[in-house]
Amino acid sequence: MIVIRNRRSLASFGTIAIGCVIALALAASPHAQAPKKLALVGGMLLTGYEVPPIHHAAVVIEGNKIVAAGPSSEVKVPADATVVDTSGRVMLPGLIETHGHLIVLGQGAYDTWFPWIKSHGGDAMLTKVMEISARQLLMAGVTTTVDLGAPLAPSLSIRNRINKGEVVGSRMLVSGPWISRGSGGAMQEGFGGVNVTSSAEAGQQVEKLAAAGVDLIKAHSGLTRDDYKAIVDAAHKNRIRVHAHVYAETDVRNALEMGVDVLQHVGSAGTAPPYSKELVTDIVNAGRPVVVTAAHRAWVYEATADFPERLQDPELKKAFGPEIYAEVQNSLKNWWSLGYFQRTDREMLFRERGVKQFIESGAVMGMGTDSGTPMNFHSEALWREIKVHVDMGMSPMRAIAAATRVNANAIGKGRELGSIEPGKTADIIVVNGNPLFDITALSHVEIVVKDGTVFKGGAAAAPPRSSAR
Ligand SMILES: [Zn+2]
Ligand SMILES: [Zn+2]
Repeated sequence: MIVIRNRRSLASFGTIAIGCVIALALAASPHAQAPKKLALVGGMLLTGYEVPPIHHAAVVIEGNKIVAAGPSSEVKVPADATVVDTSGRVMLPGLIETHGHLIVLGQGAYDTWFPWIKSHGGDAMLTKVMEISARQLLMAGVTTTVDLGAPLAPSLSIRNRINKGEVVGSRMLVSGPWISRGSGGAMQEGFGGVNVTSSAEAGQQVEKLAAAGVDLIKAHSGLTRDDYKAIVDAAHKNRIRVHAHVYAETDVRNALEMGVDVLQHVGSAGTAPPYSKELVTDIVNAGRPVVVTAAHRAWVYEATADFPERLQDPELKKAFGPEIYAEVQNSLKNWWSLGYFQRTDREMLFRERGVKQFIESGAVMGMGTDSGTPMNFHSEALWREIKVHVDMGMSPMRAIAAATRVNANAIGKGRELGSIEPGKTADIIVVNGNPLFDITALSHVEIVVKDGTVFKGGAAAAPPRSSAR
């Protein structure tokens, strides 16, 4: 049996799977002298590179770093390591979400969601929502998430509390408020977007956000060529990257030419794609990463039309708690008539070409989902996005690389994250089923290791010898 030392603090996590409780107890156990050692042994290993998998593999972790990975016949597992049996399953790098929104949970409309938060506890409820999102992401195997738009203080706070181990959640990189021109309405207000009226002001906003400690900048809509230039210059001076929210061809070109680091949305949401051949070629030749966020409108709409029961996934009920669950259900009663899906007919018409133009041209493609937007739940957004890319012709291996190693490079974390090899941070997930055969195996995440700590499954199957009786 496992010795659970920290019963009181565990009680606050409420009803969670017993495997999870044990993992958390292990995470909270007193610090050992030497870095703790963990070995994942037996399963197939996808490293994050586009090379054949390693069969019957082993990965050894010391502290929060991977120290060895390879066929288990060649990897020496230290005698004092906690061994997690992964046989019959597949190990791969923790997934990276390059476009999430922690302050939304899939509720149907911003003009009812944000007022609801205000009237149900305000900041306390907002904090709760962000904690739920971060946890949903982690349990879905998303070990790192980029939040692209939320008020500054709550963004920094949740990121820091997760880093300190006070909240169980995906590792966060946050933009804080996005920068836009002439935006308004419930979305702008709820997400805390900042409007500027000049390029100089755009640069100053970046300086302010960088000084406050954001990890990146989101350049939102309505911006001019000079705005992008000012934003990029100020961000790069502060050694942070810029992600642009762009749809129209002119905006994409301006962002590309002014040096924006990651082009987000490009070709989704009913922008009449395909883009001109010249633009796609220029993006490809620049090697500039694109994140299409393809699934969240047209495909999620279709998935819901086919199977509306997905909205009552018991996992959501468990994750949200009764109060939030009721609000989300209420907002989705007539989901087909929501304003968010008003252009779905147009999106349906262009959605395939929108994704294929980049897959077929050989663009650097990351993977991000706009998770948290209406009906696009954090618990499944990323595997749905990956599935769309595979359905549109991306090989499963390339799609997995996109959601791990390519994403890590796109967000400037390629040296620490995104692949399973010695020296990298130990972010590893284990899925049941072979995603190279059926990509939806990514929806069956059984074990999650982040920063060398088991947060889901695993430990229960192989308790450490020191606490075994
Ligand atoms: Zn956006
Ligand atoms: Zn977004």
